[in-house]
Amino acid sequence: MERAPDPTPTPAPQATPKPARGQRAAYPLPGRPVVELHRHLDGNVRTATVLDLARRHGVELPADSVEELTPHVQITSPTPTLVDFLAKFRWLQAVIADYDAVRRIVRENLEDAVAEGIDHVELRFSPYFMGEVHGLDAAGVAEAACDALEEAADLPVSAKLIGIISRTYGPEIGWQEVDAAIAQRHRGVVALDLAGDEAGFPGDLFVDHFRRAREAGLRLIAHAGEAAGADSVRQAVEELEVERVGHGVRAVEDATVIDLLRDRGVALEVCPTSNVQTSTVESYAAHPLPELLERGLIVTLNTDDPSISGIDLPHEYRVAREEIGLDDEALETLQENAFAAAFLDDDERRRLEQAAHRRDEHGRDQHQRDEDSNHQTRGQS
Ligand SMILES: [Zn+2]
Repeated sequence: MERAPDPTPTPAPQATPKPARGQRAAYPLPGRPVVELHRHLDGNVRTATVLDLARRHGVELPADSVEELTPHVQITSPTPTLVDFLAKFRWLQAVIADYDAVRRIVRENLEDAVAEGIDHVELRFSPYFMGEVHGLDAAGVAEAACDALEEAADLPVSAKLIGIISRTYGPEIGWQEVDAAIAQRHRGVVALDLAGDEAGFPGDLFVDHFRRAREAGLRLIAHAGEAAGADSVRQAVEELEVERVGHGVRAVEDATVIDLLRDRGVALEVCPTSNVQTSTVESYAAHPLPELLERGLIVTLNTDDPSISGIDLPHEYRVAREEIGLDDEALETLQENAFAAAFLDDDERRRLEQAAHRRDEHGRDQHQRDEDSNHQTRGQS
């Protein structure tokens, strides 16, 4: 795969500037839920947390300050391939020494989602990968993640978990991950996903795993069309019978795959910065996001691995507008698509809509009260 010609800077997460009064905000759409569908738990670990966990558990890191550790756990320029990108997970994985660490990472992911203005987040994780270095049991990791979800009921965010099969460990270990997800399906795990080295471990090794998950009532997703071409997307849709595809951007290479996605209503979880950093696309300007939207696909916008990429969800919407060139209408479509493609039941969907509406009403009322009191203060002076 060709290396992207000009290294794309990865700015630190910044709050999205509020539009001036009277100006229409394309994102977030007022009164509508903000939803993130594609975010890896273990791709979003605070660098300070990595340091703290390492100290507690005696794990030796290549640096002992946030500043010095950052280049080891964050992408600072595009990596030649997906496999190089995945190497950044090493230190994040190395500090997950017990189930408390798993719970902490889930908790902090939910806090981060709140800080980004997200109303509903779907967090995915490979329980075997998270537990591998310290020999934690995949089933125990999934259980701890669900415990943390329950303990976070105080946070103003709705959340679901997605269990991942890491392809790289092969089909045998894949069964442990499927069983771990199925065992927690009534405690917040709603779906199964397939991730990892797409080119080295194709989806056809995992057809039986997906069948078992489907029969157990899990929804289905697969990473495809990222490191491998459009055929991997076709395989995910036709053989794994997924409802959503992680990335899927290389579907543009084959018009018949685009038709298949559209006909079956399969949503794409697109993550532009991740795609540039893994050299899946050459640059933001060359990203096929506008084309995928124009061709009538259900495209959603996501972060993938916020701490590794040095981004947040508002950053990706800003990139979609400023670097990829989407207009307000397209940004609104992305936000609404994510809500429509979320794994929520009707009641959960209604509650989220009401909460988003109330929040924005409250924000407007508060703004009006502030304005009124400003006028009063000025009048008295
Ligand atoms: Zn991903």
